[in-house]
Amino acid sequence: MKIAVAKEIDPSEPRVAASPDTVKKFKALGVDIAIEPGAGIKSGLPDSEFTAVEASELANYKRGALVIAIMDPYGNDAALKAMADAGISAFAMELMPRITRAQVMDVLSSQANLAGYRAVIEAAEAFGRAFPMMMTAAGTIPAAKVFVMGVGVAGLQAIATARRLGAVVTATDVRPAVKEQVESLGAKFLAVEDEEFKQAETAGGYAKEMSKEYQAKQAALTAEHIKKQDIIITTALIPGRPAPRLVTADMVKSMKPGSVLVDLAVERGGNVEGAKAGEVADVGGIKIVGYTNVAGRVAASASSLYARNLYSFIETLVDKTTKALDVKWDDELVKATALTKDGAVIHPNFQPKAA
Ligand code: NAD
Repeated sequence: MKIAVAKEIDPSEPRVAASPDTVKKFKALGVDIAIEPGAGIKSGLPDSEFTAVEASELANYKRGALVIAIMDPYGNDAALKAMADAGISAFAMELMPRITRAQVMDVLSSQANLAGYRAVIEAAEAFGRAFPMMMTAAGTIPAAKVFVMGVGVAGLQAIATARRLGAVVTATDVRPAVKEQVESLGAKFLAVEDEEFKQAETAGGYAKEMSKEYQAKQAALTAEHIKKQDIIITTALIPGRPAPRLVTADMVKSMKPGSVLVDLAVERGGNVEGAKAGEVADVGGIKIVGYTNVAGRVAASASSLYARNLYSFIETLVDKTTKALDVKWDDELVKATALTKDGAVIHPNFQPKAA
């Protein structure tokens, strides 16, 4: 079995899929691993850091090769077809089921955790004031008020980070299970807790898309709160759907000049009206930070965790005795992540639509 770690071709993507730590583990497993020169450079990993550096020709993947990556498969039918046509077996790491066995392979969590942390750091940088309350001889600086909207993995880490910096933190979500988690981090929970809210979590632990009525009630509740906030971090997502619009242009305008919003959902349509992917928008002195790939802004940590997620999955694809590739196509982890095989799109959620 041979593994090649490709250098990212998108210049805005600094992460790499292996670390010196996982290279060592792959070698111990008896697997050949080659790193394309320069692949780790943007994650603080020059070629010399990799013990087994070999140049590899990665431009053309051979038929039957496995390509394992963060694939962003939703709405990318043409790319899926291209991979199927090339005879590649493509696996999307972000479709890994959230079961105990697969926690160590969960790229959504490992990357969202860092994105949540970094969102607060970006907000602190863009905000012209201090986060903690400071009582000094020259006067008192009040603590910053931070509101986190959407409390999954990223939101929880954003709350924890903002609390560490001394902010007064509130948070909202549509899933009831979140309330206790928010409170355990020393933040206050704010939500429309009606009958729909009690049913808002799917069996998989994700949020459902809420009704128009619920969204209107939610907007009315949060509008008043938003006026009084210094920082808003939004992370709300619904798998496979556009991000819910939680902050309207009017709500943005109601905030004080100097306030900062960070929209972590910007790549999926945005939670904040006026957020622009890859940019910091200025709306009358209020900044809307719309950086994409926020985990990539902590590239070394993001790569290190991503490489470990990949190692843990790939380890399950290797026959420990023969050291050969041995994909068990009926394993639930494989079934959940495999997009293409033998020239076809095989994942049930991504079947080409009948013409
Ligand atoms: P996500 O990225 O899909 O969404 C972020 C948050 O936005 C979620 O908490 C969601 O409820 C919230 N949201 C959606 N619509 C909203 C709206 N209209 N208003 C406010 N908030 C809204 O979520 P995630 O970080 O992937 O976490 C989803 C769930 O998966 C959580 O229950 C988490 O604890 C769980 N999880 C389980 C595992 C595991 O078991 N291995 C690992 C990670 C996460």
